[in-house]
Amino acid sequence: MNWRLKLLGFSLVFLLAFGCTENSDTSMYPTSDQRRQVNALLISGTTNPGQTALEHARESIAETFGDAKNVLLINFASLPEKRDAYLVRMKGLFAEIGPGYEMQSLHDFEVSQCVEAVENADAFYVSGGNTFLLLRELYDRDVVELIRKRVLDGTPYIGSSAGSNIGGQVIGTTNDFPLVDVPTRRSLGILPAVYNPHHPDPALDEVQFEARQWKIGEYTSYHKDQAVIGVTNPGMLRIRGDEISLVGIGATAFVHSQGSKQVIISTQVGEVSKALESD
Ligand code: ASP
Repeated sequence: MNWRLKLLGFSLVFLLAFGCTENSDTSMYPTSDQRRQVNALLISGTTNPGQTALEHARESIAETFGDAKNVLLINFASLPEKRDAYLVRMKGLFAEIGPGYEMQSLHDFEVSQCVEAVENADAFYVSGGNTFLLLRELYDRDVVELIRKRVLDGTPYIGSSAGSNIGGQVIGTTNDFPLVDVPTRRSLGILPAVYNPHHPDPALDEVQFEARQWKIGEYTSYHKDQAVIGVTNPGMLRIRGDEISLVGIGATAFVHSQGSKQVIISTQVGEVSKALESD
């Protein structure tokens, strides 16, 4: 065999064997300097038991969005046939948060108009459902990089559940089934960790709590360079640049990093980022 063909064959084998390590390479994620202007809220659950949808998050949503009223809803985590109704429901929920919000949904735009819609939005609200479907649809429209760039430039971002999962570096600890394949599990990286929503609270369900902790422990043992933050349903991570705080009454966050685990119940500003740094 001609040496050029041999070299090509060897390169292909090498690429197949070692070229799929993107999930453990976190070096391409925004540095703390690039994240200076991030203004985001990563909500664990849209519904907190005993409250109506988003009731527990209203104040934090209003605070995060501030004067930004032209909100682009990204509801690709929902099944396609449910997206129209979801938009109507979200408009209703935002009317309860405050006056003046104008909401359009990215699913109403032609694929060729999505880049422009992302460029024009004052703020993003990314709702929950299936995380794989959400990320896949964003990659299909070629807007992942653009959303990341806009958020790094200070455009407010609120995610709920699946929308919070994609705020992390990879969708590594979603609780969802892979409904569709994704080109890569790499996501927005506006949180310097991997998000796990709906983390069971040990006081409410010890069996589920232990099971989740075990799964996350397995994940971090395999991906030693990635921290995972599990957040219980009442909780939200409030990100202001490098400062990450837990908000939400009765919320708990579990920070797993470098073989250690820290439990955060305090809503003091910066408690979560301190826990990430101390490893
Ligand atoms: N399915 C969840 C959601 O509500 C996401 C998850 O549990 O990872 O969006």
